[in-house]
Amino acid sequence: MSAEDSTDATSAPVNFIRNRIDADLAAGKNEGAVATRFPPEPNGYLHIGHAKSICLNFGVARDYKGRCNLRFDDTNPVKEDAEFITAIQRDVAWLGFEWDELRHASDYFDQLYDYACELIRGGNAYVDSSTAEQMREMRGTLTSPGTPSPYRERSVDENLDLFARMKAGEFDEGAHVLRAKIDMASGNINLRDPALYRIRKVSHVRTGDTWSIYPMYDYTHCLSDAIEGITHSLCTLEFEDHRPLYDWVLDTLKTPVHPQQIEFGPLLLEYTLLSKRYLAKLIDDAHVAGWDDPRMPTLAGLRRRGFPPAAIRRFCDLIGVTKNEAWIDMGVLEGCVRDELNLNAERRLGVLDPLKVVITDLPEDHHQTLEFQNHPQDETRGSRPVDFTREIWVEREDFAEVPPPKWQRLVEGGEVRLRGSYVIKCESLIRDATGKVTELHCTHDPDTLGKKPEGRKVKGVIHWVSAAHSVLCEVRLYDRLYSEAHPSPDHDPASILNPNSLVTMPAAQVEASLATMQSNTPVQFERLGYFITDSKDHQANRPVFNRVISLRDTWARG
Ligand code: ATP
Ligand code: MG
Repeated sequence: MSAEDSTDATSAPVNFIRNRIDADLAAGKNEGAVATRFPPEPNGYLHIGHAKSICLNFGVARDYKGRCNLRFDDTNPVKEDAEFITAIQRDVAWLGFEWDELRHASDYFDQLYDYACELIRGGNAYVDSSTAEQMREMRGTLTSPGTPSPYRERSVDENLDLFARMKAGEFDEGAHVLRAKIDMASGNINLRDPALYRIRKVSHVRTGDTWSIYPMYDYTHCLSDAIEGITHSLCTLEFEDHRPLYDWVLDTLKTPVHPQQIEFGPLLLEYTLLSKRYLAKLIDDAHVAGWDDPRMPTLAGLRRRGFPPAAIRRFCDLIGVTKNEAWIDMGVLEGCVRDELNLNAERRLGVLDPLKVVITDLPEDHHQTLEFQNHPQDETRGSRPVDFTREIWVEREDFAEVPPPKWQRLVEGGEVRLRGSYVIKCESLIRDATGKVTELHCTHDPDTLGKKPEGRKVKGVIHWVSAAHSVLCEVRLYDRLYSEAHPSPDHDPASILNPNSLVTMPAAQVEASLATMQSNTPVQFERLGYFITDSKDHQANRPVFNRVISLRDTWARG
């Protein structure tokens, strides 16, 4: 089910959920079937936390030769949108998984309505006409029991009549809700007669204006699982307190299938906040440019940033699935990305902040074609020609007027090797009116092409591109969105956002071969990091590259 990639784990992971499934199979439960589902609400784009859930649900189905559905939990028409439904499918597929069936909770609206009538007929649900405020007051608190609603003892007939009229659209929003009749004194507030249906006079993406009432999440989820024959309903820890309600609905209705809900710890990723609702707010408040902003932890953002799907799957395998919550070091994810790209990305030359070097002892029209290997560990990647001329660009950072101790790069009077080319010596500096160095005039040692210089050591090696052949482009350097390792929705975003999460280099120069290279293929700019063309803004005549990740972890502690 998942694409085979170089870094995919070969053996199935072990975790407490798989142990449970093994035990169920050994006990002969579910006639040996294993069925899971991934159930996002289509109110936003998927994020890397969802990747954990997707890898778990689809991974279990793959390894147990079972099935996994993609199900949209589309019960809240106010926030749901067709754009999200499309984006979620694209992102699951991009991550490398195929669902057995595509389902929507709204496929079951008729069945759910019938089940609700059955609950009413069994004396297990009633229409409450209290206001939201009154219901909140009657709910009680963690330490005090709730109070029964005055409408709790309505007759079955009255309840059926009112519920049918709610469905027919006779009442305004908020006039009535259908509630389960469970236990107003329960220690678990979710069991204090939870709402099952509310009136919403809102058009639904799929069912249009057919419905004036919509079922609540807790009621819908367990029944959707049962209808689809899901055996193991895997969800994050916040649903643990909802499990008794999940079981109550299915037990009370005696559904033919009763899936087992099992909770696991959600992904908490350092320097990141995960939750569609929260991410939507970051966009609304214009802290990022959209769902696919390359700084976003969404799958669409990570894709545009250049994170390979295999690296994300590898990350999910590495962190595993446990019963508790723990922050995961961002370095783990970034390490997976580096490993994958180191293996698969071809090498190229690019200069982000160019400084002109003139090699004065070469003729004006000097043009040499050097052959560069595309990948140091993989000869099958072949080689490419790289132009070498009298004028080249080097990285401004690789020159120092006042070098710090142990400096091995360019300095007036010093030598350095040009990667794959000659050793050059900086003879003089050219400055503009303000004193800023604008050019370095150098000479070269013609005996050093592919050879060590005679009688002296030159340690530094720097990257460069031919000024006559390089291509001007914009490079966007991305970094972590937050400077706070453990951000919370309670923080004011402005106080914890990393002001340097995007730095634009407007006048970078990259080697000519990059202009014709296929877009969307990550490459390593030697010594700088991994880069990819921006899927929105890149054009052949105006190239735009995103930095996927630097070569080394600059955030490492200590
Ligand atoms: P919202 O903010 O709208 O609740 P969400 O990010 O929590 O969005 P859901 O649509 O509620 O996303 O979740 C879909 C599925 O993904 C659920 O089964 C949920 O348990 C799982 N999930 C959500 N967040 C994480 C996470 N951080 N780690 C692992 N699984 C997650
Ligand atoms: Mg959620």
